[in-house]
Amino acid sequence: MPKIFVTRPIPDSGIKLLQEKGCEVVINEAARDRVATKEEILAGVKDADGLLSILTEKIDTEIMDAGLPNLKIIANYAVGFDNIDLEAAKQRNILVTNTPGVLTNTVAEHTFALMLAIAHRIAEADKFSKAGMYRAWGPELLLGTDVSGKTLGVVGLGRIGSRVAYHGVKGFDMKVVYCDPNRNEEFEKEFGAQYVANVEEMLSLCDFVSIHVPLLDSTKHLFNEARFKLMKPTAYLINTSRGPIVDEQALANALKKGTIKGAAIDVFENEPEITPELKDLENVILTPHIASATEETRQAMSRLAAENIIEALEGRVPPNLIK
Ligand code: NAD
Repeated sequence: MPKIFVTRPIPDSGIKLLQEKGCEVVINEAARDRVATKEEILAGVKDADGLLSILTEKIDTEIMDAGLPNLKIIANYAVGFDNIDLEAAKQRNILVTNTPGVLTNTVAEHTFALMLAIAHRIAEADKFSKAGMYRAWGPELLLGTDVSGKTLGVVGLGRIGSRVAYHGVKGFDMKVVYCDPNRNEEFEKEFGAQYVANVEEMLSLCDFVSIHVPLLDSTKHLFNEARFKLMKPTAYLINTSRGPIVDEQALANALKKGTIKGAAIDVFENEPEITPELKDLENVILTPHIASATEETRQAMSRLAAENIIEALEGRVPPNLIK
């Protein structure tokens, strides 16, 4: 009976699937409300055929070696896989998979929720109302910014970026400008999107800039002091990709100085830490890495991770193999 170690409790549809296929599923229940410790993962992966990991866990050579000789697959419960040493897995013939696609709509919705919330000052207005400060309707009370008809810059027109662009064009008559090493002329034609060769070229054109690139050496601190200076002082930054893509201290400085108007951020440079100044600013909205957190999507991610494990253990190529 193959053993699967699940580093933290996850929604149950994938767990049931694995059990139906005859797997022994060991769930690290101790880590229900906190991250799993390295010791827990090292102990759990021993004799395991499959490891179901979470994006906050650094899956390194030590963990892989603790799983050998049985460990055949690491199924990451995320679309990003920057937490896994891919080269080391390859050297050990351990397959690595992720859960792309099933969270695209949800992350795109969350991105738009953040964009609308920061533009319409929803978090400030909520705080204001609950604090009993609403005494009279005011012609200039909590004035925000329209999203409709504005220019949306999409950094990385992949699955999520293109869905965000779709909502912008179809739902809010936005003009889309995008950059991506892979140009998509079909998308440009269908959505009237403008392609630019790199991020610098787009920044001065956009009212909203939304980041959807993976975390790579080349995208770390893609947004830094110099790039913020290229943005309009009226522009907003939305980040639902990965925290280290934005220099968080530079962002806090840019928000304080008015280099840009506002930001809405789901991911942080050193999660779960958040640069303290960001917590004191009114022109920023923070969510705790929940862009994919809906019942439907987290169940779908659970199923997909399980399907990847089953395919690998039955000797087939898993559908979401990372090459
Ligand atoms: P994807 O691979 O479909 O798209 C990424 C796009 O970025 C690709 O088109 C790629 O060509 C492009 N790209 C790479 N480097 C670039 C660069 N320097 N400049 C411009 N474009 C570049 O991935 P996806 O499914 O759209 O997911 C995007 C990212 O979102 C993931 O890597 C993940 O880190 C993040 N994510 C976050 C959450 C969350 O909970 N906040 C959830 C899902 C995904």
